[in-house]
Amino acid sequence: MAAAASAGSSHGAHFAAKGFGTRVIHVGQAPDPVSGAVTTPISLSTTFVQTTPGLATGADQALSYGKGYEYSRTNNPTRAAFETALAAAEGGKHALAFGSGMAATTSLIHLLKSGDHVISIDDVYGGTQRYFRRTAAPTYGISFSFIDMTPEMLEAEFAKHPGTKMVWAETPTNPTLKVCDIEGIAAVAHKHGALLVVDNTFMSPWNQQPLSLGADISMNSVTKFINGHSDVVMGVVTVKCDELNEKLRFIQNGVGAVPGPHDSYLALRGLKTLHVRMQRHAENALVVAKALEASDMVEKVVYPGLDSHPQRALVLKQCKTGGGMITFYIKGGLPTARRFLESLKVFTLAESLGAVESLAESPAIMTHASVPAEQRAAIGLTDGLVRLSVGIEDEADLVEDIESALAAARAVLSE
Ligand SMILES: *Cc1c(COP(=O)(O)O)cnc(C)c1O
Repeated sequence: MAAAASAGSSHGAHFAAKGFGTRVIHVGQAPDPVSGAVTTPISLSTTFVQTTPGLATGADQALSYGKGYEYSRTNNPTRAAFETALAAAEGGKHALAFGSGMAATTSLIHLLKSGDHVISIDDVYGGTQRYFRRTAAPTYGISFSFIDMTPEMLEAEFAKHPGTKMVWAETPTNPTLKVCDIEGIAAVAHKHGALLVVDNTFMSPWNQQPLSLGADISMNSVTKFINGHSDVVMGVVTVKCDELNEKLRFIQNGVGAVPGPHDSYLALRGLKTLHVRMQRHAENALVVAKALEASDMVEKVVYPGLDSHPQRALVLKQCKTGGGMITFYIKGGLPTARRFLESLKVFTLAESLGAVESLAESPAIMTHASVPAEQRAAIGLTDGLVRLSVGIEDEADLVEDIESALAAARAVLSE
């Protein structure tokens, strides 16, 4: 097993300087030394033979990554292949996979202790906000503030909470697609000695690389673009720092919120096509966003790939494309939004995002229904807001679907 792991890493070293597509297809994925299988095997064994007793036991087990395998919660060959490839994709040194995006988030909060403070972006993912406010704060005594995450606002918040241990950003946000300046906030966080975590889910590692912009930790819900086929729930955390990796390996093993080998295999398969899918997501999304902008049924379109996006300069600076997510405000509020969503035939009315099939939803009554009405109003999450996850179907079919659903929605205005 030690031989297998080292064969994988020297294979990785050869590809480390190559392009994104080459890295995600080859790093961590040397042919299986036992059979010569080109595709990484699904390694189901929960335990691994040892040559001599007691070499890697106790707390040190969590630190034995890359040297061998003992027990599958601690480390598993299929999971390790995914983690190695993902680290290379994100421009990191180490990646750690978890059983969901939320398991990755909760494990990151285990880096803190009771009494510590976290400054979070205000329209952070709903599940993250719920965990911060309703579990981490009351149960573990960690305090949180929620701010509009510009470098200036962050500086002002540090003045109120000196000694803050962690800054939690997410960019672009869900569903308002607000973008935050990763380099700018990294400088402020580091000046005050805090760790910067960036939730990179909406852009994916192909579009945006938080670690190279100064973040200490990049976190992704693999469930979305990385796996990309709506059939795995998983999360991943990527870091450059060895010491942080060791702490997180200890937490990953101790908390035990790890993904299984079969899901690790599927996520690795998804990762291999991330760059191709993301290109098509962005091409399709731009065409759909322009069709929406041209419709008199649409009050406003928010898409990071459009020149009309309020932070377009920042998008051009830190993202490769505008990504696959679009938010728009339909005329007539909830009744027209409802008719629009019911009339779609190629887009599927469903929660979640980032997969090959196009999805549409109403955040006000679906994904964000639990956010109090006044808080929804404060961030511009009105009843007429529609969120689209643009898939990789043929662009003409997507545009036709949007246009005919807008026409059906128009009828509601005169009913
Ligand atoms: C989905 C999502 C998460 C949570 O991930 P799960 O895999 O569903 O646990 C976190 N952040 C963002 C931005 C997400 O979209």
